[in-house]
Amino acid sequence: MNTRTCEQCGEHLRARHSHRARFCSTRCRVAAHRTRTAVPVELRGRERWVRRSADKVPLTAGTGRPASSTDPATWASHTDAVRSPHGAGLGYVLADGDDVVVLDLDHCLDGEQLAPWAAEILAACPPTYTEVSLSGTGLHIWGRGRLARGRRIRRPDGAAIEAYSSGRYIALGHRYHQAPLQLADLTEVLDSLT
Ligand SMILES: [Zn+2]
Repeated sequence: MNTRTCEQCGEHLRARHSHRARFCSTRCRVAAHRTRTAVPVELRGRERWVRRSADKVPLTAGTGRPASSTDPATWASHTDAVRSPHGAGLGYVLADGDDVVVLDLDHCLDGEQLAPWAAEILAACPPTYTEVSLSGTGLHIWGRGRLARGRRIRRPDGAAIEAYSSGRYIALGHRYHQAPLQLADLTEVLDSLT
């Protein structure tokens, strides 16, 4: 009995599908890609987008030259960054005064298994956009909030948590499960972590 199912709609995959098929149809494959790469409108609507190289160097969408997290002339719209042929993926610049903050949790994901300390932080956050980092082993929790400077919080168990709201660019990974496409206020969570 064939028990493989489409990752998008859950339909059983049939004999006509290749043994490597993950989706029942092109429609499901495209829908799954859209879900995975969807980002909140609060981020899509800002000209803060760059490309990134395979080794995470930020690149200007228009030229492919190195981009700077402090030079707006090297940033682009989401649309232009998505369409750019340069580099290997997308990045987002956290610019001073934008009220966008990212909590960077390293080495907290092992496959689907989320480390208890990270699950605790995620549970403390109001529902907000969260993504799996490029490495596949970290989480980026995105939200609204402001920090005077980047913060690095080292936990007793050795895990590192970093938080940024300016002068940094984030290499985009992919959406964590069905994380909401909105940014919640993370001020209280940030305060509780320090
Ligand atoms: Zn399907």
